[in-house]
Amino acid sequence: MDYSKIDDWHPLTLPSKGLYYRDANGNDLCPGGEVQISPWKTYQEEAMIKYGGINSSEFMSKLLQNNLQLPAGMTTDDLLMTDEFFILVQLRCLSLTPYATCPYTCPQCNNTEPVQVNFLDMDVVCPDETWPDEPVRVELPVSGHTVDLRFMRVKDLAAIQSYEVKSNHEASSSHYLARRVKAINGQPVKDFLQTRELLDKLVMLDSQILASALDEYETGYVMQTEIACKKCGFKYVAAIARDASFFRPRRIDLERQAQDLRESRQRS
Ligand SMILES: [Zn+2]
Repeated sequence: MDYSKIDDWHPLTLPSKGLYYRDANGNDLCPGGEVQISPWKTYQEEAMIKYGGINSSEFMSKLLQNNLQLPAGMTTDDLLMTDEFFILVQLRCLSLTPYATCPYTCPQCNNTEPVQVNFLDMDVVCPDETWPDEPVRVELPVSGHTVDLRFMRVKDLAAIQSYEVKSNHEASSSHYLARRVKAINGQPVKDFLQTRELLDKLVMLDSQILASALDEYETGYVMQTEIACKKCGFKYVAAIARDASFFRPRRIDLERQAQDLRESRQRS
């Protein structure tokens, strides 16, 4: 075994291309969206079993702290959620296998069969020159307020989850929206709970205009795949499951990656 490969760092380009990472003076913190990742090691399994779900911000930062190198001046808290998820999937591919096998049910004939997907084949959405800069100013049609909105970041999820623990209340979608508001009528907001109170009083048209304002500009993985039913041939698009097999892939998915590695070693 080539132990020298174990501590390899691998370059990775984030889907955001680093466009939304700037310091207070507007300088790029992560030019081109270039970061480095290194595969998870066996000792990290304990944390995976302890925390389990990939929705916990605390767990996610544990999984990234030893395996992600960001440019100076940036922390994982600053990452867009979509970039963080991209890194997580890439780490899974690098450390375990890019393959995931799940049962899917054909909507045409109800045939259920296991389908093996490859995470590395999933589409990744990146910004282009037509995309707006952050924050995006949204004018609310009913109240007439202007709201500066930004993308969801890791620190936003952490703040919401900490609020949930403290208040023993499950956060609603307006909490998530409130965390992304940077300013209202040009005034910077400080407390997202206050912003949330204001959002809750808006007529629904206003809040839905606001909530959907950045929908078209979502970077990162499109977590779905096209499946052709083996029984009737019908083609359908299905969401890729994010279940326990993310960290504990099935044997068939581990073996396929082992086979790929053997073949690539023979070729080189
Ligand atoms: Zn079918």
